Amino acid sequence: MNDCLFCKIIKGDIPSTKIYEDEYVYAFADIAPQAPFHAVIVPKIHICCADEINSENSIYIAKIFEAIAKISKKENLENGYRVVNNCGTDGGQTVGHLHFHLLARRYLAWPPG
Ligand code: 5GP
Ligand code: ZN
Repeated sequence: MNDCLFCKIIKGDIPSTKIYEDEYVYAFADIAPQAPFHAVIVPKIHICCADEINSENSIYIAKIFEAIAKISKKENLENGYRVVNNCGTDGGQTVGHLHFHLLARRYLAWPPG
């Protein structure tokens, strides 16, 4: 996917501030943080969105949530955090590579609006 912003970030063609990386997952600081701690966590394969998760690629979702638990410990997010996935136009997705937002270090109101 030559055109995909997050594929370029994973490859290192576009610079990012790395927060965590393993064989399956890359996590980096969001360029427009919505909380004092805001990571974007992506699978290292191009999956467009939550709607494209299936039995062939769902291992990446498990690995993303394993990574979140590791990041939480490393970053001392013991007060809690929110994991957000925006899917499609009405979901507010602006980058077409599946990603989860990890937001922390402030109180996050619910419902989000
Ligand atoms: P979405 O709106 O699709 O759920 O989230 C996309 C996120 O990617 C946004 O929070 C936006 O700030 C972030 N983002 C967009 N372009 C870049 C970029 O070039 N670098 C980084 N680090 N984050 C980006
Ligand atoms: Zn991609």
